[in-house]
Amino acid sequence: MRRFNFTMPHSLFISDLHLCAKQPRSTEVFMHFMRHTAPDADALYVLGDLFESWAGDDDLDDPFHQQIIRAMRALAESGTRLLVMHGNRDLLMGKALEQASGAILLPDPTLLDLYGTPTLLTHGDTLCTDDAAYQDYRRQVHETAWQRQFLNQPLAQRKAFIEQLRARSETEKQQKNSSLMEVNDAAVSNLLREHNYPRLIHGHTHRPMHILHHLDGHTCERWVLGDWGRNANALRCGRGGCEYISVTPARSSPA
Ligand code: MN
Repeated sequence: MRRFNFTMPHSLFISDLHLCAKQPRSTEVFMHFMRHTAPDADALYVLGDLFESWAGDDDLDDPFHQQIIRAMRALAESGTRLLVMHGNRDLLMGKALEQASGAILLPDPTLLDLYGTPTLLTHGDTLCTDDAAYQDYRRQVHETAWQRQFLNQPLAQRKAFIEQLRARSETEKQQKNSSLMEVNDAAVSNLLREHNYPRLIHGHTHRPMHILHHLDGHTCERWVLGDWGRNANALRCGRGGCEYISVTPARSSPA
């Protein structure tokens, strides 16, 4: 396993935190991470589903959102670049959130030169092509007209709709064959080919793993980020390569 000195320049990647007022533990871990781990990085990339839900930027004043946004702004102002990609849960994050938090919203996918290695970032839901029903839903909610119509509804109504959707998706997740929620190999290959065989980093599936794809004579690394449900983790990448790090602080009191 390649090891490198993490006092050297590095960037951090996280996704699927699903932050919400109902999950104080994840919020606590996030606050600790933003204060103690993230400031040493050149950049922090959040690859989708930072929030469990985002009804629209007119919900910025919510006290829970304000708490998260203050931590984001503090990091951005400390000199660590903060780059945030939409997930399926927080698709409606927009300009006002960007301005309030100091974060820059990234298009999905984004190709970057990461310390000399071409690296492609995506949330990962577009790779789950076996789930046709989900892909239909995704196409619909990505339409500008759909989003405009949705955002025209009162905030309370939007929140109620999202809550219904969330409950339904929980039920469906239990009924769906788990392979439906995994990435499709051909979709991964197509994406890698399309971007000239980069390293790939994504989230969404909540199953952290490091895989090598041998494709057309190239070897592409794929790093999958884990969710922050039980064991919060981050991926740290520098010139020497990438490595998972645990970001769960010791509990202040035994549970
Ligand atoms: Mn997701």
